[in-house]
Amino acid sequence: MPATAQPQRGTVLVADDDPVMRLLMLEMLAQVGLDAIEAADGLEAVDLARSRSPDLILMDVDMPRMDGFAACSAIRAQERDGASVPIVMVTGGDDVEAVTHAYEAGATDFVSKPINWPILGHRVLYVLRASDAIARLRIADAHNRAVLAAIPDTFFRMNADGFYLDYEPGHERSGRGRIARAAGSERGVVGRHVSDVLPADIAHRMLEQIKTVLATQQVRSVEYEVTECGEVRHFEARLVATSASQVLGLVRDISERKRAEEQIRRLAYCDGLTGIPNRQAFLETLERELQRSKMGNKKFAVLFMDLDAFKRINDTLGHNAGDALLKMVSERLRDTTRPSDLVSRGDNATNLARLGGDEFTILIPDLERVEHALNVAHRVKEAMRRPFLLEGNEIFVTASIGISLFPEDGDDCGSLLKYADTAMYHAKNCGKNNAKLYSSSLTMQIMSHVKLEVGLRKALQNDELYLLYQPQRDVASAEIVGVEALVRWRHPERGLVPPTEFIPLAEETGLIVPIGEWVLRTACRQARAWQRQTGRTMRMAVNLSAKQFKDENLSQIVLSALHDTGLDPRLLELELTEGTLMDDARATLATLEQLRGIGVYLSIDDFGTGYSSMNYLKRFDVRALKIDRSFICGLPQDSENAAITRAIIAMAHGLKMVVVAEGVETGEQLLLLEEYGCDMVQGYFLGRPSNAEAITEMLGNVTLALPAK
Ligand code: C2E
Ligand code: MG
Ligand code: MG
Repeated sequence: MPATAQPQRGTVLVADDDPVMRLLMLEMLAQVGLDAIEAADGLEAVDLARSRSPDLILMDVDMPRMDGFAACSAIRAQERDGASVPIVMVTGGDDVEAVTHAYEAGATDFVSKPINWPILGHRVLYVLRASDAIARLRIADAHNRAVLAAIPDTFFRMNADGFYLDYEPGHERSGRGRIARAAGSERGVVGRHVSDVLPADIAHRMLEQIKTVLATQQVRSVEYEVTECGEVRHFEARLVATSASQVLGLVRDISERKRAEEQIRRLAYCDGLTGIPNRQAFLETLERELQRSKMGNKKFAVLFMDLDAFKRINDTLGHNAGDALLKMVSERLRDTTRPSDLVSRGDNATNLARLGGDEFTILIPDLERVEHALNVAHRVKEAMRRPFLLEGNEIFVTASIGISLFPEDGDDCGSLLKYADTAMYHAKNCGKNNAKLYSSSLTMQIMSHVKLEVGLRKALQNDELYLLYQPQRDVASAEIVGVEALVRWRHPERGLVPPTEFIPLAEETGLIVPIGEWVLRTACRQARAWQRQTGRTMRMAVNLSAKQFKDENLSQIVLSALHDTGLDPRLLELELTEGTLMDDARATLATLEQLRGIGVYLSIDDFGTGYSSMNYLKRFDVRALKIDRSFICGLPQDSENAAITRAIIAMAHGLKMVVVAEGVETGEQLLLLEEYGCDMVQGYFLGRPSNAEAITEMLGNVTLALPAK
């Protein structure tokens, strides 16, 4: 029934032995729209109350056979509506005793004689309305009780000081025991203080929240756990203010929800493939470790590990094998990173994680010495050494490891992880199966590297590259028979950058291909120009890097440079290093074949610094060999180098190769080399690398005087 509904106009039982009085009463009631039934005495009233269930009884105190008090009591004793029907007693004027007596008998209200007739009807209406409100309250109360009975939560009311005013235990739930236990023993809770019922810390939190709830009149909740028969159960108490000084609490068992949350958490933080923590878990562990180390003034290290050549395994054996390998690797890592060496607290497993792909991270807390991190890295590498058995194949795997340190390298997680990654790449560049520490100098190095690379990309189009030429002289005729083209880079800010610095960078980035092509064309054009100007045939030597040599368009590039400039192929010398030739023998032979087909002159540069294998030289069938400067510079005093130089010359001659000595700086060296039978010389003594004009002039002056023998 809605709270605003008007009481229904009802039936009033009028009990009075005086017929005039009854008539008047009936009249008054009729005026306010109420029906009435009449009883002439108490007994009749009791009967009618039972049989007709009136909505209100208006009853005189003095009646024959049974007086009003007795009738009132008898009606109250009746089942059904007897207890709740409002009874208004009509008492004598100043009979206080009668009033008291009437209430004792169960009367709801009274009117005293002489009756104020005009208001009687209204008075009755008012009592009816009030009783109606009470009836509704009773229904609401019953409703609330039913709801409470249906909900499994435990209810309590508590005052601001933390004393239980009420306590309604929740229901039995799937045999798990009563939730009531969550809030302490259900027996005798009412009247006790929360700290007598719940563990001290929970009680404390509860009291704090109650204060807030009462102050803000907002709903708050307290979550806590209680161990019941060895099983941890989680509860949530929601607190609602019901007045300025009382709260209603609903306690719910949230153990299932907690379990589900934990499951979700596990899935979100665990790498599905290997079962070890994933990136997210690692990042959070790292963040916690960072805060802990900052507070405790401690150090820690981040190891970043990446398998070398994992892609190859994936590509050749398939993804299933790749996955199996990652699992095995993570197991070995788990064994390697067990506590003894990791000085870890608690959940050691989170110190190891798989970031994704073949990348793993290890956190080493409480680091006392950097060596400790290097030790762990070493052990990880060792752990990888044993072959992995994959689908019957024994697979050998190595790992590259980068290490960053807190606080030395950075003081935020992002930087530390990034730097460990950078160090890992550095380790890979240093030949894989390596562990490298990150250091700020490494960044500086990388930064300047990056800057240089950006500059180098623009160098060609901005005309910052140019060539110098260093003369090569035939020992016997003392004539300049060729020059070597040496590239230079005039950097707009840094000035001259030596080729030893930018050529490796160009190799790394692949820029060497366009740069090399430019060198080749420029050198060919210059050689052709000199040929025209001086009428002399002179060879132009051009250095070829390994990348260029591997470029499948190489012979095309060479051909078109020769064609476009009109240079005779025999006047173009390509200098290759031993390293370039040894890389892939079969491909090398094919490329050499193509170049020989074009008719260019091939030589080996820096001989003696690489493999120095004469056997190979034989196979490659190159025309000339340039002895590296490092052998020449100690001559003639360095007898060992002298012996080597002599042997190289002899062996090369045995293979019918022309020998060129590089880095000849003194006349003495020249004499010695002549004595050894060296065919050609190049070096500062005969001429530094110079620009084209200077060489033109030199060619005009013909030969340099030979020192006296
Ligand atoms: P390289 O081919 O062995 O060139 C000889 C190097 O020795 C040149 O250094 C030259 O200046 C230097 N040199 C010549 N005579 C003497 C001497 O008497 N004493 C001393 N101390 N040094 C002498 P540079 O020009 O600095 O070139 C270094 C290297 O850079 C070259 O070694 C070559 O490997 C590479 N390079 C230069 N230009 C090119 C190029 O266009 N392409 C490629 N791929 N590499 C080049
Ligand atoms: Mg050279
Ligand atoms: Mg050289």
